[in-house]
Amino acid sequence: MRTRSGDVEANGKRKAPEGDDNGRAKKRSVQRNEPKKNTLPRDENGRFMKRSVQSNDRKNGKILRGIRGCISPRCSAYTYRPSFSWFEQDIWTYISRFLNGKSLVMLGATNKWFNGILMEETIWRFATLRDLQVPEPSPVSSSWIKLYASAFDGSHSYLFRQQEKHIDWMRIGAFTLDSQMSLLTESFSGQLRVPREGTIERMLKSTGSCIIKDIKSGIWIADLQLVRCPVCDLSTCDGTMQTLDARHIELFLNEGFKDGSWEYNLIGSQKLKKDAKAACGAIFDLKHLKASSSTGILHLKSWTGAPDDSQPKAVIAPHAVAVHTRLQENEGILVKYHTMKAGTDGDVVAIRISQQLL
Ligand SMILES: [Zn+2]
Repeated sequence: MRTRSGDVEANGKRKAPEGDDNGRAKKRSVQRNEPKKNTLPRDENGRFMKRSVQSNDRKNGKILRGIRGCISPRCSAYTYRPSFSWFEQDIWTYISRFLNGKSLVMLGATNKWFNGILMEETIWRFATLRDLQVPEPSPVSSSWIKLYASAFDGSHSYLFRQQEKHIDWMRIGAFTLDSQMSLLTESFSGQLRVPREGTIERMLKSTGSCIIKDIKSGIWIADLQLVRCPVCDLSTCDGTMQTLDARHIELFLNEGFKDGSWEYNLIGSQKLKKDAKAACGAIFDLKHLKASSSTGILHLKSWTGAPDDSQPKAVIAPHAVAVHTRLQENEGILVKYHTMKAGTDGDVVAIRISQQLL
């Protein structure tokens, strides 16, 4: 036997009466509201009393009030859907995560409201870290929108000076230097030889590598530059020089760099007077040397291309960068190491490793 409550489903919809095989409604075996025989009140003489229809019907309230709708709460598309607003900050902040710098600027230029939303530092910090593919750095002193612009507006270190020498460049990527000590090398096939303390010239002579200290921590951006012969100014000279050019992300925003008071200084050089197979250069964060080795950066075959491929190749790891260009038969190469300091006693904010044929 089914109960009445069983006829009403949880969602408030009434269920159709259960039918028999021929689709006819099954007859209820017991109908609760059906008056039972001989249940009417009797008087003291045993006679049936007159039933007051009016009072009984008012009591159960069915006939007088008629049919009524269900009052249980139910979901309605009209009652519960909030009206959509185009100007929801959270929505646009989320959408901004999928926009590149150019699209962010265009959207910010549409009106004052969008401009206010999209000029938030968090928006540009996210875009910068996302596009440079680096993790969250230590605090920066410049605004993130300026950092984004200086990283992606096409500027490079030769644009500010020696522009006449510049031929071509390519962006390698970004990496992190956070131990303030780096290993610079032109020789990194197989395993790295870390030099002991000594002058840079001595370190270079013994291992082909050197260690530099007091490096500004944070994100560094690496480019590969191709420039004209630095030795002469002859228009007939075909000589070129390859430079692994790395800089702290904030370098181009510093007045000392822009006004030319910070200069690149030669810290060491090395002549390799024999046929060099390739021009290599690499920068490693000393603290993460072991981790960088495991990224495959030392496994040259994995990223330097075919033996007859003379195109420059580059690779980047979370804490290291390297370049490799195969050379034709030659009489040797000259490798130069330059650094730029933020003022006389400032940290190192830029590093260059250059190679030219002898
Ligand atoms: Zn020359």
